[in-house]
Amino acid sequence: MTLTQTGTRGFRAYTAKHLDELLKRGGFDDGTRLRVRAVASVLPFRTNAYVVDELIDWSDIPGDPIYRLVFPQEDMLPEQDVSRIAGLLRADAPAAELQAAVRMVRMGLNPHPAGQMELNIPKAGNESVPGMQHKYPETVLFFPKQGQTCHAYCTYCFRWAQFVGEPDLKMASDDSEGLVRYLREHPQVTSVLFTGGDPMIMSAPVLRRYVEPLLGLEQLESIRIGTKSLAYWPGRFVTDPDAADTLRLFSAVVESGKNLAFMAHFSHPREMESQLVQTAVRAIRDTGAVIRTQAPLIRSINDHPDTWVRMWTGQQAQGMVPYYMFVERDTGPQDYFAVPLARAYEIFRDAYARVSGLCRTVRGPSMSSTPGKVCVDGVTEVAGRRVFVLHLIQARDPSLVGRPFFAEYDPAAVWISDLRPAFADRFPFDPAVVGEGELLAG
Ligand SMILES: *Cc1c(COP(=O)(O)O)cnc(C)c1O
Ligand code: SF4
Repeated sequence: MTLTQTGTRGFRAYTAKHLDELLKRGGFDDGTRLRVRAVASVLPFRTNAYVVDELIDWSDIPGDPIYRLVFPQEDMLPEQDVSRIAGLLRADAPAAELQAAVRMVRMGLNPHPAGQMELNIPKAGNESVPGMQHKYPETVLFFPKQGQTCHAYCTYCFRWAQFVGEPDLKMASDDSEGLVRYLREHPQVTSVLFTGGDPMIMSAPVLRRYVEPLLGLEQLESIRIGTKSLAYWPGRFVTDPDAADTLRLFSAVVESGKNLAFMAHFSHPREMESQLVQTAVRAIRDTGAVIRTQAPLIRSINDHPDTWVRMWTGQQAQGMVPYYMFVERDTGPQDYFAVPLARAYEIFRDAYARVSGLCRTVRGPSMSSTPGKVCVDGVTEVAGRRVFVLHLIQARDPSLVGRPFFAEYDPAAVWISDLRPAFADRFPFDPAVVGEGELLAG
């Protein structure tokens, strides 16, 4: 197959314009390819030669988990939406008409879940600070402007709205001075998490411009980088022209007396088994950085306990620290990827029971919802009632962290909003109803 690849610094990306040719490699017929392209005009598509040639098992598609991780599926969106857009593509409809149809489908997909826009954007005086989220007292999220894309896109991405070029859906900043100013004004913040997109899409000099100004801030204990680069482009730390420079920057963070926490997103064990990944992991760890791992539980990609046992044990063997198992968020094609909470808990527990204590640093399954990170601790019977046992790992209101609460058992529930409180008339984070519908913060 001949494909024109785009990208810089030796990195080669495939985008929507390569999709048809890539699908031909999978042997899909004309109709299927058109419908997949229809889905890819609503949800972002991007992959690269490493993912296509090294990670995907083309003899096992469409079942292959890595294929499903990056390639849109024709049944990911409602049938009538796919047919309508496929029809417009087939008829070569005017761009404006296609864009209007695409936009309507996107707006139905809850592009900014969990109050990301309204509740988490911090204020400096009366101005809101763009490119930042401050939800939990000790940690600030920063979205560097040049880091708002990824080496490939996950089909389940909850940040998908940032990649589709709707200006009002983007949140990013290149104001590293503004970040430092905000941190000085908020001495309770001990950790900055660079996120995206993927901050490791940035070259070493650009990343340095964001990281270096933080090294003199005594209040900071850690600088975190949330990234899927180890899975999607491990050459970033081994063969890319700025690999050595990147590793020097990591060393500089460690030498400044702060923890460089490299938060690696791995969705499937196959992503961490190649020689190149293992070399990259060693190189990062040799800087003194600590690699912690996290991923959501996704139907048809990693919804089996064996997959998580293989991930956690493999990570531990390479010196990485399992951190979070997330529940798929309520955005994008959630119906397609959702695993019911009751099943998520079983998968977590069955995997957790089979790994050594060194892997049991992992927490979950956890929902990043409006009140905080809600962990499903289990399903049990209390006073003859079948209930979920839950607790908040992180909360907007820190006094709620770590206190167990209950919800009525519901085998179909996939998100906190599907749950009803048990043994109480509200959840601890719900506002208390006082008098005639008057609301008080809970
Ligand atoms: C998950 C998350 C954090 C970090 O939480 P930790 O439990 O410290 O990893 C910070 N801010 C937001 C908005 C988050 O969702
Ligand atoms: S790497 Fe992260 S931000 Fe990028 S597409 Fe995947 S889930 Fe989304």
